[in-house]
Amino acid sequence: MMEKLSAEEFDLNFKAVNDKFTAALSRVGKTKKDVILLAATKTVDIDTINYAINKGINYIGENKVQELLSKRDGIIDVHHHFIGHLQTNKVKDIIDKVELIHSVDSLKLAKEISKQAAKKNKVMDILLEINIGDEASKWGFTPENLLDGIKEISTLENVRICGLMAIPPMCENPENNRKYFKIMYQLFTDIKTENVDNCFMNILSMGMSDDFDIAIEEGANLVRVGTALFGKRYYI
Ligand SMILES: *Cc1c(COP(=O)(O)O)cnc(C)c1O
Repeated sequence: MMEKLSAEEFDLNFKAVNDKFTAALSRVGKTKKDVILLAATKTVDIDTINYAINKGINYIGENKVQELLSKRDGIIDVHHHFIGHLQTNKVKDIIDKVELIHSVDSLKLAKEISKQAAKKNKVMDILLEINIGDEASKWGFTPENLLDGIKEISTLENVRICGLMAIPPMCENPENNRKYFKIMYQLFTDIKTENVDNCFMNILSMGMSDDFDIAIEEGANLVRVGTALFGKRYYI
């Protein structure tokens, strides 16, 4: 766990994030209603998360199943998302604990989500993760195989494709990610024009602490912010 953040520290961080968020929105003629600010809460303790929620955060995302399960019941009921790599054998543990899974990176995983959702009589909302930097270390669809993936996943009865998600390669200068965000936005709009049944391109989830303003400029409508809100983590 990271060291507990003081209320004052969170307030300062939140103000800085909000200022940057609002400035980016105004540059593209959008308002807070148009873009979701999701707090990435890995390693953050329950009290701090609830404090953040009371201050106005209403979307939170965890990236590890075990951590989500251990914290979920203690956290005020807001929009809970899953944003990390998900192993197929763990799908059943979170299927009724989150309302959106950002990180669907294979047909196999989508099939398992549909299967488990069916058991709960629900349709699970998902985003497809794109390996936008074509990195060996990352999971996800490639821009080239995305449409084929979508065509297959859209036939699954108990999942609904709601959009795309990406984590660009790590780099020193956040401006370097602009080109990846541009490709993502292009994919997002191209897929829309394909009009695949049961595929809704509503959410484009990209941008983190260092580059969420750039992501917003390039069309993101959901940004995932951890460090800038909660401070540095000591492990990933
Ligand atoms: C941790 C995490 C984030 C937030 O990263 P920061 O750089 O701390 O803002 C966003 N997305 C995912 C999938 C994460 O795991």
